[in-house]
Amino acid sequence: MRPIPILTYHQIAQAPARGAPMRSLYVSLSAFALQMQTLSLLGYQGLSMTALMPYLQGKKKGKVVGITFDDGYVNNLENASEVLKKFHFSSTCYVVSELLGRTNVWDHALGIASAPLMDLKQLQQWITSGQEIGSHTQHHVDLTSTDTQTSQSEILNSRISLSQQLNTNIQQFCYPYGRYAPEHIDIVRAAGYVAATTTARGKVHAGDSAFELRRIPVVRSTALPQFLIKILSSYEDRYRSA
Ligand SMILES: [Zn+2]
Repeated sequence: MRPIPILTYHQIAQAPARGAPMRSLYVSLSAFALQMQTLSLLGYQGLSMTALMPYLQGKKKGKVVGITFDDGYVNNLENASEVLKKFHFSSTCYVVSELLGRTNVWDHALGIASAPLMDLKQLQQWITSGQEIGSHTQHHVDLTSTDTQTSQSEILNSRISLSQQLNTNIQQFCYPYGRYAPEHIDIVRAAGYVAATTTARGKVHAGDSAFELRRIPVVRSTALPQFLIKILSSYEDRYRSA
């Protein structure tokens, strides 16, 4: 199979004022719209993780790009979903099951600006608009600094809770902070997830584990030429040997 890019976004909104920490995690609506339009013009289809699975497994062929959003910000629904719909793209948003309708409290110690997370009703709107929800644990924990029992609960109970509340089968997982150990891969698989994404960079190649999928970050400073290089070239795969 041809290597497949999976894009990582966080917030789709104007960044806070200069000097604020982690401004890079904001992509403006106009930049996001231009990126999606460019993919569409090049003949690529943007897909949710579940829609992407047959391509990752080599069962389907085509020009496809995975689109993912981490953390579940309200601005994904308010800004990104219209754009995705316009181009008939789907995507997966990984949400924190015990923080629905709250804010990114895990970021506050780092001085990162508070931003609202989707509540249950907004998650339902996200699904109704053709997008997918995945799990990002119950509390956005660093799995490598919690005990096994807590990790199990964070991974499994977030899936059960979201599946019940949204009346859908949650199949996709994303490791918070991209941090995990081999035991967490086994826990994710045993919890019934089909795949999991990381923050390791690179495209997905044939034979890669479905539970350690690499992704490609798109950030505030990613200009269109760089975006194209990330999609069209092997630029991101320079990290694969690391
Ligand atoms: Zn996160």
